[in-house]
Formats: sequence, structure tokens, C-alpha cells
Amino acid sequence: MVFKVPPSQIIIRPPVEAYSVLIAVTGGCNWNKCRFCGTYKGIYGTTQDYAVRPLEDVLKDIDLYADKNYHGYPVFLAGGNPTSAPTDYLVKIIEYVRLRMKNVPRVSCYAKALDILRKTDEELKKLSEAGLDIVYMGLESGSSKILRLMKKGTNAESMIKAGKRVLNSGIKLSLYVILGLGGKKFSEEHIKETAGVLTEINPTIFRFRTLNLMPNTPLWKDWKNGDFELLSPVENLIEERNIIANLGENVSSQVFNDHVSNYCSLESSNIKIDRDAFIKTLDSYINDPKIKNLPRKNLTQM
Ligand code: SF4
Repeated sequence: MVFKVPPSQIIIRPPVEAYSVLIAVTGGCNWNKCRFCGTYKGIYGTTQDYAVRPLEDVLKDIDLYADKNYHGYPVFLAGGNPTSAPTDYLVKIIEYVRLRMKNVPRVSCYAKALDILRKTDEELKKLSEAGLDIVYMGLESGSSKILRLMKKGTNAESMIKAGKRVLNSGIKLSLYVILGLGGKKFSEEHIKETAGVLTEINPTIFRFRTLNLMPNTPLWKDWKNGDFELLSPVENLIEERNIIANLGENVSSQVFNDHVSNYCSLESSNIKIDRDAFIKTLDSYINDPKIKNLPRKNLTQM
């Protein structure tokens, strides 16, 4: 049984926002076509149509948290892609968060590259000045071929443009990379092109997730039909190792493996400094016989 839920109901947030105040701004996803993603297509027993919540409702939620003394916490503006909403609407929300809630260390939200590209530099600057600190954007892969196959609706060039414009506006950028997204067939391309895009953007942070097919997503069906070959745990670790090894010397991002889908939990506060140690540690996992025989996680809930 799948229930349709209103935009005020929050379905997903980044693990790093687990202890944040979550305020629903948009519901669903205005794209909702990525072949690996079932977030708003019923995999959690719920579907949600894309909608921008009425401003009064969002401001009321902020009042509610402020009145209950939720001060001093990070605030995550929830929904698949709040940056799809009009800039003036977002500015009013961010300013109200900053006005009503005291000592907020971070205001953040998800962002889709195309929504960023639809905003002018001036609009991005307005969001930054209002107090939006960081956006989480799904790069997924730096390969335009893989992005096209996965119906991401964005290519490498747009990802680079969007990423640079976010950073130039003063907003920090956290990118997600999905290990295994090219399957066995395009693993080499995924490594090379992803390292290339990360090198071009030099994001504040990038985070690895490992492809975990959720039942009934289009990509799950390809896998079941034998049209898509998943990587083994050790092959995913090799991809991560080689993405790091192929980064340009300029990349000084923080790097995290902070997701339940991953097979290691390595992190770095500056990959420029930690690159050799990071690779060495990954090599030790890759060469460990226990890891070589590790079964895939096949999570059905995340
Ligand atoms: S843009 Fe994000 S939320 Fe929307 S379908 Fe793609 S991965 Fe899912």
C-alpha cells in the first residue's frame, strides 16, 4: 500500500542533518525521473507530488520551533529541491529563520543543478546574504553518458557551471557521488569523469554513497532483467580509491563516507593533505581477504 503524503511531510534528509531542525519548504521533486531514485515514487511506502508550500505555513512552522525553544540547532530546509522555489520566497524563509531562531549554526537545503542554473548570480548572492550556508547537490557521476543513461537531467558541463556558481555566491557546496552508478560496463568512465568534474569544481565537501538499488526503481528493474551489472563491495572501494587517485592537485575538499550504503567510513578534512593516507587505507581494505568476500548490502530501507 502506497500513501500520497502532503508537502508538509518530510521524507528524506541528509545523515549529517539528523539532529537539525527540519522545516518542510517544498514537497516531492520537480524532476523525479532519475532511474536510481525512488524517494518520491513509493519506495518508503509514500509518494509525494512536487509542491512549494505556502509561505505562511512555513513561517508558522518556524514560529512553532522558535516558541518551543529550538535555538542553537542547524536548520535544514526540507524537500527534494527547495532551490526550485522563487528566490524572494526562499529569502523570506531564511531571513525569518535567522530572526526567530537564535544561534543557528547552519542553514542548508538540497539543490538540483538545473534549479541553480535557472537562478541569476544576483539571486544566488541574495540567498547567501540571507544566510543560506550550504547546499547538498547530487553530482552522482561526472560522466555525461552515465548521467544521460540515469536520466539525471543534467550533464557534466551543467554540473560544473552550477557548482562554480554556488561557490562564487559564497554558499558552500556539498556534492554526492554514487559509487557503482556506471555499473561494471562504465566503471572506468565513472572514475575518470567524476574525478575530472570534482577537480573542476573543487567543492567544499564531497560525499560518497554506494549504489544500493531500491525495489521497484527503474534501475532495479534493469538489474533484475540483467541489463545492469552491480559492482561488488570491493569493486566499489576500488572505484572510490581511483576517483581519489585521479583528482587534480588543486582539490582541497572535505571528503566523507557518511552513509549506511558505504563499505568504509573514511573521512578527510582536506583531501589535498590526506590523499596518500586515504588511498593507502583504501588499498588495505581492498587487499583484505575478508572484504574481498563481503556480500553486497542490498538494503531495502535507508
Ligand atoms: S533530482 Fe534527486 S530527488 Fe529528484 S529524482 Fe533525481 S535523485 Fe531523486
